[in-house]
Amino acid sequence: MRALLPGHGASRGSALGRARVRLPHVLEVAEQHVRPDQIDDEVGRLHAAVEATRAEMHSLRARLHGALAKEVGEFLDLHALLLDDPELLQGLDELIRTGRYTADYALRLQRDRLAAVFDGMDDAYLKSRMDDLDHVIGRIHAHLHQRAPDAPAVAGEILVSDNVAPSELAELQQHGVVAVVTAAGSALSHSAILARSLHLPLVVGNAQALQKINDGDVLLVDGATGEVVVDPDPDDLRRYRERLREAAREARELGRLRSKPSRTRDGIDIALWANAESLEDVANAHALGATGVGLYRTEFLFLQQRELPSEEQQFQVYRDLVLGMGGRPVTIRTLDLGADKADRAGLVVGDEENPALGVRGVRLSLAHPGVFDTQLRAILRASNYGPVRVLVPMVSGREEMLEVRRRLQRAALQLRKQGHEIAVQLELGAMIEVPAAAIALHGFVDVVDFVSIGTNDLVQYLLAADRNNDALGELYSPLHPGVLRLLRHVIRTGAEHDIPVAICGEIAGDAALAPILLALGLREFSLHPATLLEVRKAIRDVDFGDLQARTDKLLQARDRAGIERWLKAAVAS
Ligand code: PEP
Ligand code: MG
Repeated sequence: MRALLPGHGASRGSALGRARVRLPHVLEVAEQHVRPDQIDDEVGRLHAAVEATRAEMHSLRARLHGALAKEVGEFLDLHALLLDDPELLQGLDELIRTGRYTADYALRLQRDRLAAVFDGMDDAYLKSRMDDLDHVIGRIHAHLHQRAPDAPAVAGEILVSDNVAPSELAELQQHGVVAVVTAAGSALSHSAILARSLHLPLVVGNAQALQKINDGDVLLVDGATGEVVVDPDPDDLRRYRERLREAAREARELGRLRSKPSRTRDGIDIALWANAESLEDVANAHALGATGVGLYRTEFLFLQQRELPSEEQQFQVYRDLVLGMGGRPVTIRTLDLGADKADRAGLVVGDEENPALGVRGVRLSLAHPGVFDTQLRAILRASNYGPVRVLVPMVSGREEMLEVRRRLQRAALQLRKQGHEIAVQLELGAMIEVPAAAIALHGFVDVVDFVSIGTNDLVQYLLAADRNNDALGELYSPLHPGVLRLLRHVIRTGAEHDIPVAICGEIAGDAALAPILLALGLREFSLHPATLLEVRKAIRDVDFGDLQARTDKLLQARDRAGIERWLKAAVAS
């Protein structure tokens, strides 16, 4: 039956496909009861699922061969043992019979009970066995819904899950997954940023998704509004076809702006840099007339593989990036691992209490000088093929920039000694994401050549609101008077010291907010190529001088509503 499930749009695009439900380790199953006359059936349903799980493990065990057969086999044996554990099964039967719970909810209760026992253990190894139990419970749960767990995705499927890691997205798309719907997550997470760059429609915060969607359901996903329709009716399908036509029409219309300048009505040229994650992004950036690449996030290279990428591997990627821009400057951001981005090679410490406030960005690079120097060498070598700028993430202040500059100079010297051709001087820039660095920018303008404001992080640190926590709702928003005042301060400080200032956070790609950023004095935007033409259009529609005359009024806004009123008035004029 048709159902409409609301969520938040995180990566635009419409998709129609069949659901593949991936249940979370911790089962988010709501409390549900069965009628007394259904109890036997429910126990039977549970036993059938346990039996199916046992048979599945048996057949997996029998099919094992090759190098890892022994290790994997041991895991399967362990899982089979857990499955026979009377503690687990009798407890489940009892919960269904005495509490009249559904098998799903009984599974969750039992899981939570056992988790509490595991949690109380001192032994880290035993504690980690909870993961195995979760795995087994996940398989039983999957069988309760008659789906085969962990089978590779099939083309045309839509993944429905509690969350999705940035490292999974590219692989999912390669398997032909056409959209992703998550129950948790935020539109500003790294997963969302990557999904946008992959043009993979993504809906986050769709709270009911895991309860209401079953494997194989046909879903219609709108990555702009966040709506997911289960079992769409003919009207939905007609609207979907209309949306596809509309998207094609808009693309044609915007396409006419491809070769037009990003110039306001009164003739002020605005630089539109591209945030590029892939060579496809680079090709698009080039074709759309981007000023250059304003942000290339190198950590994605580290997320994709188990070993740290070598100097040679990195060099080739950076060189191709530079070649792809055909002589326009390319801004390579040094490694920004940590917080919600953990590499597979294990650079990121997994047990920090507050990873977002921990060893991330340049802090991590300086803590691993060998890894950092390898990256700097690769970047320096790529600079031989075209103009390259180096951008440093999560900078707190002067000392870090001085240290990075020292390392960069030393690496250049060594490379030259080894006979490499290196550009004379690479521009070095700081990401402004730490509020203290924004406030005290005057203290290190002499050691940077440019700055780029990372509003995604700056907003989270300024408002003490996790960018990945959807429960915070509008608390995480750049439309806060404090945020606008700080942006104004950074843009002004840059102008006073002749330091170019860009914004490379997601707000730069939101065409609706362009008048605000222009009013704050911003002249350089760095955004994903997918949004470049929309922002160019917004820039061409306004008068820079007129917006400047309204800056004071904007800064006087006392709340989000005031900022929105200002925006409405500015656009109407
Ligand atoms: C930012 O924080 O705004 C930014 C561009 O960096 P990232 O999103 O990669 O943290
Ligand atoms: Mg950031």
